[in-house]
Amino acid sequence: TQFRVHSLHECVLKVISLMESEATRLGHEIHYSESFEPIPIMMDQDKMIQLLLNLVKNACEAIEENGIIQIKLSRDQKNATLVIEDNGPGISNESLEKIFHPFYTTKESGTGLGLSICHKIVQDHQGTLEVESEPGHGARFIITFPLASEKD
Ligand code: ADP
Ligand code: MG
Repeated sequence: TQFRVHSLHECVLKVISLMESEATRLGHEIHYSESFEPIPIMMDQDKMIQLLLNLVKNACEAIEENGIIQIKLSRDQKNATLVIEDNGPGISNESLEKIFHPFYTTKESGTGLGLSICHKIVQDHQGTLEVESEPGHGARFIITFPLASEKD
């Protein structure tokens, strides 16, 4: 694996470009509120893209129709925060405890591996991954990463 300093904003743009036609085909929109400050993160860029792709794909798959997938990127002195939220059906309290377990899926042909891989990728980047959901009103995944320091 290749850990280098890369821009988190560039990763988000890449994932949007990969998912945009699929989202449009399904009738969804991807909205992005970027941070205009640089967000340098020490990352394995391929893994970072895989992480974001999994979350945006899950959102696309969860929403029945007219979905909005909102991606928000921000930072403070020390950390970057990335929020991916959707206006789909959300996640029941019972499922919330299990979604990061390998092989847990509610889809007919799901693998249940996406979120456990996401969790591993976030851990490998010293980050945190949390989920919030009010069933019926969508799901929100919140990721934080430490910013790369100047010596990186
Ligand atoms: P898979 O996509 O193969 O089912 P994942 O690990 O990616 O496996 O997701 C596990 C489960 O978490 C999904 O089957 C679904 O029940 C739930 N889930 C994940 N993301 C969302 C979301 N954005 N909205 C609603 N449910 C979700
Ligand atoms: Mg998935």
